[in-house]
Amino acid sequence: MTESTPSTPAVEPQPELPLALAKIVGLGSWFRHPDRPGWERREARIELACPYCGELHRHGWTLGGAHTRTETRLAHCQLPAGEPRPQYRVALDLAARHVVDPGQPILRRCRR
Ligand SMILES: [Zn+2]
Repeated sequence: MTESTPSTPAVEPQPELPLALAKIVGLGSWFRHPDRPGWERREARIELACPYCGELHRHGWTLGGAHTRTETRLAHCQLPAGEPRPQYRVALDLAARHVVDPGQPILRRCRR
């Protein structure tokens, strides 16, 4: 599992991809805030049932902004080496009880 990459999607959401609903289950790494020099923001960890393999997969998710948005992720399915990873669209399950408020960013000043 990759813990050190920001949750910025690599590609724009594609409507033909399956949609997976996710729940915020924890907090992840701090990253430099792209729009606020001198500040860092903390990422959330989301968990979802994979539409391809049925297993639970975890990804990073940027808190704040439109928590109704949809992003695209590469699935973390256990695949033979060299097999291309499928993609899915991810949205927060608005009916789920998240461990933090999806609409509120968690910020701090940089330590140096
Ligand atoms: Zn999977």
